[in-house]
Amino acid sequence: MRTPMKKEISLEGKVALITGGATGLGLAIAQEMADVGATIVIMGRRKEKLEEAKQLLPGVHCYQGDVTDYAAIPALVEQIEKEVGPIDILVNNAGIQNRKPFFDYTPDEIQAIFDTHMKGSFVMSQECGKKMKERGKGVILMITSLSAVGGMVMLQPYTMAKSALMALTRSLTQELSPYGIRVNSVNPGFVETEMLIKANAKEPGRRERILSKTPMGRFALPKEIGMAAAFLASDAASFITGVDLRVDGGTSNTLLPS
Ligand code: NDP
Repeated sequence: MRTPMKKEISLEGKVALITGGATGLGLAIAQEMADVGATIVIMGRRKEKLEEAKQLLPGVHCYQGDVTDYAAIPALVEQIEKEVGPIDILVNNAGIQNRKPFFDYTPDEIQAIFDTHMKGSFVMSQECGKKMKERGKGVILMITSLSAVGGMVMLQPYTMAKSALMALTRSLTQELSPYGIRVNSVNPGFVETEMLIKANAKEPGRRERILSKTPMGRFALPKEIGMAAAFLASDAASFITGVDLRVDGGTSNTLLPS
């Protein structure tokens, strides 16, 4: 019997864990997934941000945690599953950025970016993936970046880390599909979250430069990234795995002169 798409797109009865879900894009993803019925779990380091998110998202489950505290992740995942329920959807959204000239990066700064984006997403995917594998279903999403599609100045460690997440998405497709786990990434265009506002504040003119490279002539709304993530997490995307979905208003297609 045919199931209508409005049912397929529902996340009713599903638990979604969003790292870095208390702010910016993570919060928008949480809001959109909650709107279509998911039970939301967010984790992040700052308690005050988790408290603020509770006000915005009634019923959200908050866990203070750090994706770079690798040894603590298995126990955290166990605790979430015990207290909230089996994790159906993992969104590896937590991220940090440091924009500076190539020659100025210190080894510690490079490492911190790799640890958060790459190793954090890897270990979270392993721990949640093990549970999904036992149950024969699950969805893992990475949040990537246009910097990994084109080349962006002064963002080399971040670009390298996001490129690695795209590679991880591709390489997990074959290994996890037999267990009913789909792995995709959402690649946001420029969104004026805390991260981008901070970076742009240091460089007059950058905001305008970004807009001039966006055919749709505006920044993405956090909600637009959230809706794409909710779609990929839903059964409406049941045959989609291994893709990097660009939600960028056309920015990645501006290589050739107009
Ligand atoms: P924010 O700075 O608002 O969000 C980052 C979130 O990650 C925060 O909630 C932060 O919370 C959390 N976080 C950072 N480090 C850790 C950690 N070690 N453990 C757990 N949580 C952590 O920025 P955005 O919303 O913009 O970024 C979200 C994602 O989207 C990032 O991966 C970013 O790279 C990506 N992105 C953003 C774009 C944009 O234009 N804004 C474009 C493309 C990609 P806390 O500090 O409390 O831990």
